[in-house]
Amino acid sequence: MNEPVLTIVVPCYNEQEVLPETIRQLRQLREQLIAQQLISGRSALLFVDDGSRDATWTIIYKASLRYPEVKGVKLARNAGHQNALLAGIFSAKTRSDCIVSIDADLQDDLSVIREFVKKFHEGYEIVYGVRNRRDTDPFFKRHTAQGFYKLMKVMGVHLVYNHADYRLMSRRAVEELERFEEANLFLRGIVPLLGFRSTTVSYDRKERLAGETKYPLKKMVAFALDGITSFSITPIRLISLVGFLSFFVSILFGAYFLFLKFTGHAQTGWTSLITSIWLLGGLQLIAFGLIGEYIGKIYKETKRRPRYIIDLDLFNLPIPVSFFGE
Ligand code: UDP
Ligand code: MG
Repeated sequence: MNEPVLTIVVPCYNEQEVLPETIRQLRQLREQLIAQQLISGRSALLFVDDGSRDATWTIIYKASLRYPEVKGVKLARNAGHQNALLAGIFSAKTRSDCIVSIDADLQDDLSVIREFVKKFHEGYEIVYGVRNRRDTDPFFKRHTAQGFYKLMKVMGVHLVYNHADYRLMSRRAVEELERFEEANLFLRGIVPLLGFRSTTVSYDRKERLAGETKYPLKKMVAFALDGITSFSITPIRLISLVGFLSFFVSILFGAYFLFLKFTGHAQTGWTSLITSIWLLGGLQLIAFGLIGEYIGKIYKETKRRPRYIIDLDLFNLPIPVSFFGE
């Protein structure tokens, strides 16, 4: 029996509406995969409660008492999707040969995990789940998401197109991932940088089963800005480019105005004056804003704060879970 031990990591933030169904479907899938001898019987499901304020942790905890394969990690406060994911992945690492990460809302087709595992058997260390179509996403989400991938491309950040955080990673890949010490780990950009043998599996994305999105516009914008400023210096290049251009143009204008002055055609150029003041003011503000973004990054990184703080880790407990009672 040499089947790989798989851990499925699920970050959960206020997911009480959907979680019982997610647990049920994942347990069922796990049973099937074990029966098909694709994964080991020691494979587990790990739910990370990202500081939820609803019954999410109670649901996870009770399930972990009832089913030995269900494990839970509870973060002390909301650390955000990416960090919750990392908490789960690193917690599962030593007990897994491979790790699959998936959202709690059942938007991503679970049966694809079977394909992931098959690819792992074929020797792939990273398998990306890629969405075929997005017509189930609301209009707004679909277009902002597509804009996001385009923007990233322009900025020179290499992402797997239409891949969110639904993927399989081998233990070795996770160990290497851990060596990226930056506090702000943008997984979708970092994982391709690992460079292990990788492939993609495509699937159709469904609608969220229950509950509402935990990614409102504000978080999406922050996510995109993080992605760009963690990986790319293109914005700084653009500033310099614009700077050079405006310098060049102002020399031309200056020459022209001097020419007018010496030929006696000088106008009292209020229009040109006021527009250039506004133009330059705007440019400077944009430049300051972008430079500030990078300084903010440096500021955060130099503090080297832990990415998350674990309150309780039922997955790495030396004593049996039942010790705690209900
Ligand atoms: N999530 C999390 N912490 C957060 C926000 C979201 O752990 O601060 C989880 C959430 O429970 C879900 C996953 O991240 O399992 C993706 O969130 P969601 O489905 O709301 O995002 P969307 O699919 O709308 O982009
Ligand atoms: Mg979702």
